[in-house]
Amino acid sequence: MKHFELNEFVVSAMAKANKIDNTPTESATRHINEMVDNLLDPLREAWAVYCANEHIGTPALRVLSGYRCPQLNKMVGGSPTSAHAAGYAADIVPENGRLLEFKRFAREWLQKTGRKFDQMISEDEDGKGVPQWVHFGYKRPNGDQRKAFKSYFKKQYIPMTK
Ligand SMILES: [Zn+2]
Repeated sequence: MKHFELNEFVVSAMAKANKIDNTPTESATRHINEMVDNLLDPLREAWAVYCANEHIGTPALRVLSGYRCPQLNKMVGGSPTSAHAAGYAADIVPENGRLLEFKRFAREWLQKTGRKFDQMISEDEDGKGVPQWVHFGYKRPNGDQRKAFKSYFKKQYIPMTK
């Protein structure tokens, strides 16, 4: 873990407000590290090169939500098999606010590098394809890595828009 800290995947305003202890289990901690080492750190490094070349400011990535303990996962309406509950997913926004570029960049990078992952979801898109955040799932809790690209638009999952 180079460009992130474990705590970023654990802190949750909702957990705090509801006095839920969102401390990850040992296996969830291992999964978070595995996801960062194999997916998020390399993505962050490639994004930094892109941001420098395009002069679009900081390449920092903010984790909106990472690990969700069973109680927290239930509270946010997550499925019991959610990758978040296993420590295998993170919802991310680029600190420079370039959501559409980040979505396009991340998809191209995943395709170009052939890197293994489970799914990338452009979440809650507007009509122009701009997401509110991007969900990265590294593995399903059973270990599957489907390499799926989706958009969540008008409360439906569709093939990822441009
Ligand atoms: Zn998510």
